[in-house]
Amino acid sequence: MDGYYVHESSYVDDDVQIGSGTKIWHFCHIQSGARIGSNCTIGQNVNISNNVRIGNNCKIQNNVAVYEGVELEEGVFCGPSMVFTNDLTPRAQFPKGKTGYKHTLVRKGATIGANATIVCDHELGSYCTIAAGAVVTTDVLPHALMMGVPARQTGWVCQCGQVLGEDLCCPDCGRKYEHTEGRGIRQSKKGE
Ligand SMILES: [Zn+2]
Repeated sequence: MDGYYVHESSYVDDDVQIGSGTKIWHFCHIQSGARIGSNCTIGQNVNISNNVRIGNNCKIQNNVAVYEGVELEEGVFCGPSMVFTNDLTPRAQFPKGKTGYKHTLVRKGATIGANATIVCDHELGSYCTIAAGAVVTTDVLPHALMMGVPARQTGWVCQCGQVLGEDLCCPDCGRKYEHTEGRGIRQSKKGE
């Protein structure tokens, strides 16, 4: 496996795949069966558990554990010290083992802010943004902005990360969005 970097203080178990251009910094542990895409940045003190899938171009900041059952599509940003879980009813005295792990899917381009918590068994839609410190206990729509404890949707965010106004037009990049028949938004065809 050439073309990636692992700092000498980190442990990479057997049967791990790491894509080219990916950098794994100090004091990380990448566990067996993990699949990490290309051009990812894995910050200091990050644990990637067994069989976790991480897409290309993800950035995982310091002190994050990506537990078994969590899957990141491409371009996902995990802020410093944010928390994933993989068990809704943990008991030290009644361990479930691998079969009890819940699935958490983080779609393309999503951002999870510093110190946020993602309760497992949910899907975070593409390009959603979870604010710092939020506790997500529901599925999240694509492009949704989620804040608070428990997290509620307070608005919409652009593909570029900027918060959208009422007109669903991005003040930074000019992308325009429209409401869908459901509860979500999508990029407008017109004006591109
Ligand atoms: Zn934008």
